[in-house]
Amino acid sequence: MSSPAKYIFVTGGVASSLGKGIISASLAKLLQARGYSVTIQKFDPYINVDPGTLNPYEHGECYVTEDGAETDLDLGHYERFLNVPTSQANNVTTGRIYKEVIEKERRGDYLGKTVQIIPHITDEIKRRMKLLGESGRYEFVITEIGGTVGDIESLPYIESIRQLKLELGSHDCMVIHLTLIPFLSAAGELKTKPTQHSVKMFLEQGVQPDILVCRTEHELSKELKRKIGLFCNVNEESVIESCDAPSIYDVPLLMEKEELDKVVLKKLGMPYQEMPDLSNWKDFLFRLRNPKHEVEIGIIGKYIELKDAYKSIAESFIHAGAYNLCQVKLRWIHSEDLEESSIPELLSGLAGILVAPGFGERGIEGKISAIRFARENAIPFLGICLGMQCAVIEFARNVLGLSTAHSTEMNPNTDAPVIHLQEGQRNITQKGGTMRLGAYPCRIAEGSKAWMAYHRAEISERHRHRYEFNNEYLKQFETSGMLASGVNQEQGLVEIVEIPAHPWFIGVQFHPEYKSTVDNPHPLFIDFVKAALERSRRVHERATEAI
Ligand code: GLN
Repeated sequence: MSSPAKYIFVTGGVASSLGKGIISASLAKLLQARGYSVTIQKFDPYINVDPGTLNPYEHGECYVTEDGAETDLDLGHYERFLNVPTSQANNVTTGRIYKEVIEKERRGDYLGKTVQIIPHITDEIKRRMKLLGESGRYEFVITEIGGTVGDIESLPYIESIRQLKLELGSHDCMVIHLTLIPFLSAAGELKTKPTQHSVKMFLEQGVQPDILVCRTEHELSKELKRKIGLFCNVNEESVIESCDAPSIYDVPLLMEKEELDKVVLKKLGMPYQEMPDLSNWKDFLFRLRNPKHEVEIGIIGKYIELKDAYKSIAESFIHAGAYNLCQVKLRWIHSEDLEESSIPELLSGLAGILVAPGFGERGIEGKISAIRFARENAIPFLGICLGMQCAVIEFARNVLGLSTAHSTEMNPNTDAPVIHLQEGQRNITQKGGTMRLGAYPCRIAEGSKAWMAYHRAEISERHRHRYEFNNEYLKQFETSGMLASGVNQEQGLVEIVEIPAHPWFIGVQFHPEYKSTVDNPHPLFIDFVKAALERSRRVHERATEAI
């Protein structure tokens, strides 16, 4: 029986960080804009069962799906481009594959056979590769393979692709190989040899790529494309140029111009004459390109050396900025640099302050001091997860007068545990996949600041944390001016806090950044940017009055 979905694999060669995730998401966008149902999945060749246990310095942000999977940050790009939720099934690692196979072996499912990479590991990889396609929900399944062709770790994946190509045939399965065409300034030339070698290595492993997407800083001439095609055994129209783009959101249009979608459809025996409808996307790009205002927002975190650690937050500001026709400049501030004496300088001129999510003690006091600065100086503030918890601690210490207030994550013996471990977390010892994860409903108090942002009472947002607001202190907070404006009613958990007397001060226990997409910028980010705009207008007015 032939499979209902078409499978497109995206691999990488020559160098890492060429942007396989963005190419995959861009192709998916083009196919979606032609009316097809598409999903994208990522297979990562590392042995962690998921990236949830990885330090952000290792692998960037950990992205969380609706169903509570801790996944690779590329899934964030997939959702932001397609506006369709992903799930656990969309991110598979070598660790997960091996775990499954070893559990089967322990159960005796292999009936005494020797369990080997081929066929047992590759069979499990292939099963996972086809899982979403067999659900009947998608016409196209795009699979991005992490790493680079030639890596030892990637071998079982390449072998699985080789087998699938054979099993499914060229109308149901194809491979796009992303490579680099470096420019040697000394020679004044673009060099195709690394690409030739990468494809050669791929061929040695039994896979002939069908399309080459060539990352380059300079345009590829027709002649060069012909040369690449000739040496790599693909026709000229299958050599796609991918020049550096001003933003990742330009890539779908670049790929449309290069006719990547058309070549894909042609090869898979599908109609390709009609053009994709990208009007919404173009409208977004127009707004992004033509801002009428500008604001600067500070992001305070402890991993700021690696911007990928806060990928979804940065992208959410791009969406919300375009919506507000406002260019949002981000000032990245290391929480460890924030001390009483450095705060006025490091935070000066900011129209808004965001305190980022995080774990552990490092940089906590800096975050708390920055929040105090935002609260006392009427600067719009958004605290996300740990950022919200720090806002609660700051308020407890400086408004309620509980000078020792803390989260039991940082100080298990504090006598004012305003943030404490959730009941269900107390006996958990395993680290991976055990936090409060995924989407939970929340009810917003009508008329609150949060309500003004969402314009509705029932929302659902994604979580990733172990600690929570300690309800024993709720009364004290509310009588002193910090409200719990969003609550998970079933579990009685405070999900949003805010200060009504402040122009815009909101802390959220969940992660709004995971749900912001090009088609659906997140209401909290939209409203936060609006508040920041208001603030900079007011500051500007005051300054001109003073003259
Ligand atoms: N460390 C905090 C907790 O586990 C916050 C987590 C986060 O910011 N994602 O509750």
